[in-house]
Amino acid sequence: MKHLHIVMPAAGTNPRLNQHEFQMQYAYQQILHKLADAVDLQGADAQQAIAGLSHYSKALTGMSLFVLLNHYSTSTAAMGYGDANDILIEQGINVATQPIQQDLINQITSFAVGNLDYITGDMQDRLAESLQEGYASGEGIPDLADRVQDVLDISDNKATRDARTLTNEIYNQAHMQRYRDSNVVTGVQYVCAQSEGTCDVCAALGGTIWDINDPNIVTPPTHYNCRCRLLSYLGALPANAGQVDSDVMDAYNDFRQNYWNVPAYS
Ligand SMILES: [Zn+2]
Repeated sequence: MKHLHIVMPAAGTNPRLNQHEFQMQYAYQQILHKLADAVDLQGADAQQAIAGLSHYSKALTGMSLFVLLNHYSTSTAAMGYGDANDILIEQGINVATQPIQQDLINQITSFAVGNLDYITGDMQDRLAESLQEGYASGEGIPDLADRVQDVLDISDNKATRDARTLTNEIYNQAHMQRYRDSNVVTGVQYVCAQSEGTCDVCAALGGTIWDINDPNIVTPPTHYNCRCRLLSYLGALPANAGQVDSDVMDAYNDFRQNYWNVPAYS
């Protein structure tokens, strides 16, 4: 057994994971673009312009979206599980793999659908408010269309952020699953993708080692757009395992409890 020397590529330079992120982002954005396209600016007022949206977005965020996102969630989990297994093999561990936990992936997908539902709802509220202003001041179609685009841009950013964070979530959960079901991994090391944009919290967590059964274990994502990873740790844990400043833990718990309360592998 050996511990790997950690060489992390800079944020966003894992091409395979980037591809998964991109597919997930595209799935999210398609929904928002369809919603924006469904705005009918020929109507007499804002109410008419967005009259059909509520019904339309309900249909979009129903079963078909679940199936679409679940496809990407499942393939990302399979990649994470396989990558974690590759890490174990490099560390000299060759233990039979287990099936991916589809139930958990389904739960995470439902969480994602709920998030997107929130984004589309917020988008409708913003459209109603902005278009009301536009109609009230007698704007023509080009100006009103600009307003729709502005609202779409805001929603697009949120969707991109969520899709990227979700990809990291599933990828790391799959690592945790593989590490735990190997029955030989004793801990994980938090690996921070050091770059210009690395936040203080992730920088503080970078390199920390955690008991794999620690109920307070910190697993990325630690914030939106987080690209940190987990590496398997073997053998006796260091005395300082799982010890970080309370303000770091507070920031992590705040994100996990108040912004990103996703079902997790345990
Ligand atoms: Zn991070």
